[in-house]
Amino acid sequence: MSLLVVGTLAYDSVTTGAGYREESLGGSGMYFSIAANYFTDVSLVAIVGTDFKNSERFFLANKNIDLSNVETKEGNTFRWKGIYDPNNPNSRETISTDINVLAEFSPKLTSEARAKEYLFLANIDPSAQMNVLNQMDTRPKLIGLDTMDFWINSDRDNLQKVIENIDILFMDDAEIKSYTGETNIVAAADSVHESGPKVIVVKKGEHGVTVFNQGKIFSTPAYLLNTVTDPTGAGDSFAGGFMGYMAKKQGTDFSTIKEATIMGTVMGSFTVQGFSVENISDLEENKINDRYEEMVNLTRFPSLSEKGGPVV
Ligand code: AMP
Repeated sequence: MSLLVVGTLAYDSVTTGAGYREESLGGSGMYFSIAANYFTDVSLVAIVGTDFKNSERFFLANKNIDLSNVETKEGNTFRWKGIYDPNNPNSRETISTDINVLAEFSPKLTSEARAKEYLFLANIDPSAQMNVLNQMDTRPKLIGLDTMDFWINSDRDNLQKVIENIDILFMDDAEIKSYTGETNIVAAADSVHESGPKVIVVKKGEHGVTVFNQGKIFSTPAYLLNTVTDPTGAGDSFAGGFMGYMAKKQGTDFSTIKEATIMGTVMGSFTVQGFSVENISDLEENKINDRYEEMVNLTRFPSLSEKGGPVV
C-alpha cells in the first residue's frame, strides 16, 4: 500500500542546547517521507528552488521515495530558522520563515499520485493542501493533516476548509488551543470533532501524545531520553511513523490507531536524537522494533481481570 504526502522541502538553520546547524536538510515533507518510508512506499509532492542540491535529491531517490511530483522552480528553496530554549526543548521560537518558491506552488499531480489510497497533508500552505486533496481521483481511504501556528495565524479560513474534509488532525497542544480558542485539550478535540475529523492527535512534546476518536481516548508518554539533540521534525516524523504504519496495516480501526500512535512516538524519538534527518536516515529495522517493544513495556500494567479482582 502506498502513501502520498504534500509538504515542504527546506533548508533549516537551528540552534538548540546541543549546538547550531546552518542550512541543513529539513521540511515537513522531508521528515515525514523518511519516517513513513520504513513502513510503506512514499510519493512526495513538493517544490524546491534551483539552489536545491542534486546530492539531496539523490539521497531521497536512493531511499526509493518517489520524486516525480517534486517540482523545481527558478528561485530559492523554502527556509526556516528556529531557536530552542536550552532549558526546555518543548519551547521554540521561529526567527524567520522565508517562503521563497513555495509562494508559487500549484502542484499538478501525476495520474499515479491521484490514485493513492492514503494521503497526508503535511505542514504547508493550506491552499496547497486543498489543491492536492481536490486532485485525488476518489476520496482516499484515510486523509491526515498537520499544520502549525504560522498557518493558523495567517490563513485560518482556508485551513478550516481543508480540516472539514479530513479524517485525522495532528496538532500540538498549543496549536489546537489557539485553533479552537479552547483552553483545555479535551474541549478543543470535541470542537474539532464537530467540524469533521474523526481522529484528533494532540502532541505534547516530551509529555507524549493523546488521541481522541469519537469518545474513545488513548494516551502514551513520550519515549524517555536523557538528552534531546534537536527537536526539529519530531512532529513530522511522528506523523510519518503513524501514517506509514496505518498504510502498511491498511487499517482505520482504533486498535491500529493505538499501534500507529506508538510507532509515531518511536519515529519522533529517533529524530530528536540527532540534528536534521541524520538519526532517522539509516535506521536498522530491529532498532525500530526494539523501541516499539520498550514502549509496550513502559505502558503495560495488569487489568482488574488479569489481577483476578478489584484493587480496592
Ligand atoms: P516540526 O518540528 O515537526 O514542527 O517541523 C519542523 C520542520 O517544519 C522544519 O524542518 C521546517 O523546515 C518546517 N517548517 C517550518 N515552518 C514551516 C511552515 N510555515 N510551513 C511548512 N513547513 C515549515
